[in-house]
Amino acid sequence: MPQFQIPTEQWAQVVEKTGGPSVYKKIPVQKPGPDEVLINVKYSGVCHTDLHAMMGDWPLATKIPLVGGHEGAGVVVAKGELVKDIEIGDHAGIKWLNGSCLACSFCMQADEPLCQHALLSGYTVDGSFQQYAIAKAAHVARIPKECDLEVIAPVLCAGITVYKGLKESGARPGQWVAVVGAAGGLGSMALQYARAMGLHTIAIDGGGQGNEKAQHCQSLGASAFVDFGKSQDLVAEVKAATPDGLGPHAVLCLAVQEKPFQQAADYVRSRGTVICIGLPANAYLKAPVFNTVIRMITIRGSYVGNRQDTQEALDFFARGLIKVPFKTVGLSQLGEVYQLMHDGKIVGRYVVDTSK
Ligand SMILES: [Zn+2]
Ligand SMILES: [Zn+2]
Repeated sequence: MPQFQIPTEQWAQVVEKTGGPSVYKKIPVQKPGPDEVLINVKYSGVCHTDLHAMMGDWPLATKIPLVGGHEGAGVVVAKGELVKDIEIGDHAGIKWLNGSCLACSFCMQADEPLCQHALLSGYTVDGSFQQYAIAKAAHVARIPKECDLEVIAPVLCAGITVYKGLKESGARPGQWVAVVGAAGGLGSMALQYARAMGLHTIAIDGGGQGNEKAQHCQSLGASAFVDFGKSQDLVAEVKAATPDGLGPHAVLCLAVQEKPFQQAADYVRSRGTVICIGLPANAYLKAPVFNTVIRMITIRGSYVGNRQDTQEALDFFARGLIKVPFKTVGLSQLGEVYQLMHDGKIVGRYVVDTSK
């Protein structure tokens, strides 16, 4: 078993007050509890949730001071005495669900994201925007050694989340799924998971320059691209993108604006399912009751994934079916990433390297 030198201090990004900014500074390295592991985070993806956490947008308070981040890929360097099934030196991932009670009725049925005692990385407990982070051993993602930690980091939230959403949608091979917010980090992965699962996709996005977003989505397997900024009649255009004109069997709403959530129920196929994943601040779902009834539409939320979904999502990646478009910057540059995110200028995913 390899031995690791664990420093007493480390670099981290710390939100010291709600609303930000995040401050790059040195903080102490913590020790893992009996059922926890300490992970030397090498790379961490940056998720829109991290920005919401810093800004305090959601009706759930964060811990303060807070180290954000929940897509951390690294190496287990220490573990508590109760941890038996993961070893020092193994590769592991910190995901949004840092821990749960494992005893409540939700945990018993592998719905641990619904656990009332869930610990959330980079939200209610410190996350992966630091060099050494703690997580409950039962919940860390087991990352195969052959996977590149830099490339796999965004799979730990974005990948798991969209894969779970596609499972929840009930869409079967050969059917059509519309992905709203397709050019973003989640969307880029949703298009590929859908393709790997044998689904056709309609990419919906907008606001980019020229054809950049359309080309990006088509390169990831989208059969059609609809620009919600330019389209005169979004509902008609999305329906027309399916061969029989009846609309997609499922819609994955990954957008961070409210409007696309309102329209999904209009263009989803009768008997289809709208899956809500993106979390626009202060947003509401609206759908006409009449049409929802007579067209038998299902509207459903899908929230991250459980431990099994995690390993399945990583397996698609390990088989080379998911290529994550990403750009790496230093952990010290996180603030610049937040600014781009705030301005809606991100195509693909940003990853931070904790060594710089
Ligand atoms: Zn996330
Ligand atoms: Zn529980």
